[in-house]
Amino acid sequence: MTNSSKITPPSKWPDQVVPLYPDGKKFAFSIIDDTDEATLENIRPVYDFLHSLGLRTTKTVWVLPAVDTDARPNRGYTLEDTDYLEYILKLNKWGFEIAFHGARGGDSTRQEIINSLEIFNDTIGYYPRIHINHFINRDNLYWGADKLDCLPLKLLYRLFYDRKKYSGHKPDSEYFWGDIAKKHIEYSVNFSFHNINILTINPAIPYHDPRRKYVNLWFHTSDGGSVTSFNNLLSEDNLDRLERENGVCIVYTHFGKQFCKNGELNQMTKERLQDLALRDGWFVPASEILDHLNRNRTGPIELSNLKRILLELKWLIEKIIHGSS
Ligand SMILES: [Zn+2]
Repeated sequence: MTNSSKITPPSKWPDQVVPLYPDGKKFAFSIIDDTDEATLENIRPVYDFLHSLGLRTTKTVWVLPAVDTDARPNRGYTLEDTDYLEYILKLNKWGFEIAFHGARGGDSTRQEIINSLEIFNDTIGYYPRIHINHFINRDNLYWGADKLDCLPLKLLYRLFYDRKKYSGHKPDSEYFWGDIAKKHIEYSVNFSFHNINILTINPAIPYHDPRRKYVNLWFHTSDGGSVTSFNNLLSEDNLDRLERENGVCIVYTHFGKQFCKNGELNQMTKERLQDLALRDGWFVPASEILDHLNRNRTGPIELSNLKRILLELKWLIEKIIHGSS
């Protein structure tokens, strides 16, 4: 199924090549939907529309109800909501990927996370292949300043952003679940960028980071966190570029936040997705794209120290300018 010929991506790191996509498709596209504030009412119009266009993407879920709903990002339906669960199972049947956003909106202990992964497996039929950290959950893996290696950048981050300690990866913590993540989760996101083609940021995705051993493989996303940034990201010019560069776009977004009003999906989002679907892209869940890139890797699976620092620097500059996640 895979075309074995190679192309050189328009990269600043021209030592690596990526394979062409299955069936001769020109680019690869997916979406990872962070489940914050998602309800059945506000996500159904989005997913019904994606399904009607033949776009299969990745939706994260929570298993357990939130513990702190004063924090708005913690609100949203979970697998305990029967009608919502029924719809999630339908998405799964349609070929969408269901992924993990931690056990819940809010902190969870090791045992709660273990239980929630078992419930996920029993309910969905598989363990999640992708995990996305949530907001300020203490059980997040390598989150906050722990995303960074370069000391000056770490200090800068702590000065301007949250100083909370995240300990999902710290064995002495009650929130530790790194070993469980290593066993079940294949891919996790660290940095999101304002760029439609994540191969131009780092052509080596997915990659392993020996300093963060509990995550098997890391990847990056294109930032479309709000309806406005999502629509801007999928502009005609950007999609032209993605196609021209034979790139990879995995959008990070929150479909639960203002994409739908009165049961109607935002008109511009509809138009952008229609434009996308008419193009010659490979539209599959994020894990399938990452599997493909990993299987056809030609460069090393780890980044050099210099590449890692450049990546961190680029991300932090974008975070200062745009507030990227
Ligand atoms: Zn979240």
